[in-house]
Amino acid sequence: AEIGDTRVMFDDGTEVRADLVVSATGVRPDIRLAESAGLETSDGRIVVDEHMRASARNAYAAGDVALAYNVRAGRRIRSEHWRDAAQQGLIAGLTAAGSSAAWDQIPGFSCTISDSVLKYRGWGGYETCRLVDHHGGFTVWYEADGDVVGVLTLNADENLLRVDELLRANPVA
Ligand SMILES: Cc1cc2nc3c(=O)[nH]c(=O)nc-3n(C[C@H](O)[C@H](O)[C@H](O)COP(=O)(O)OP(=O)(O)OC[C@H]3O[C@@H](n4cnc5c(N)ncnc54)[C@H](O)[C@@H]3O)c2cc1C
Repeated sequence: AEIGDTRVMFDDGTEVRADLVVSATGVRPDIRLAESAGLETSDGRIVVDEHMRASARNAYAAGDVALAYNVRAGRRIRSEHWRDAAQQGLIAGLTAAGSSAAWDQIPGFSCTISDSVLKYRGWGGYETCRLVDHHGGFTVWYEADGDVVGVLTLNADENLLRVDELLRANPVA
């Protein structure tokens, strides 16, 4: 209901004293145009193949709005990262221009918070996660069925490189 200098008031009357507010926000793709055009959609996204081709001829989708097939994973992957959106846009453009291009990269993001750069690579979805403190950095290993399916690092790029190898060998989350 109200954010003050030293406190946050919620609409149920609860008051929390705080110096800093961290707001975790998100966006949702708007697929109304695609739906009204009759394109196949699923899970609030436009279904595309590995070339970013939608269900109608000469229609492409890329980025957050697309539910794209990843060749290496062997399944469609929901990705909400700027790097993947840019890659998919490039693939859509190349495909439209008649070149051969397919989405086969492991999804991931970098996120800069003040002086810290968090880096993630993975297929999304996991059963357990394991935090390893490197004192000055950390690695979070995400696992499913005993296999690594993703990693989040701070000041531990070597583990990011390792996960690229591990995930290539074992893509399915
Ligand atoms: C708060 C926040 C923080 C984030 N932080 C990170 C981060 O640290 N790292 C990271 O990798 N990713 C981050 N992301 C995700 C990243 O921003 C998205 O994955 C990326 O922007 C997707 O790009 P896009 O081009 O697919 O979609 P968008 O960037 O959403 O662009 C879509 C554009 O299309 C326009 N549009 C929609 N409908 C129509 C229409 N009918 N006609 C014309 N224009 C239309 C929209 O207005 C918008 O400008 C963050 C997202 C949020 C919300």
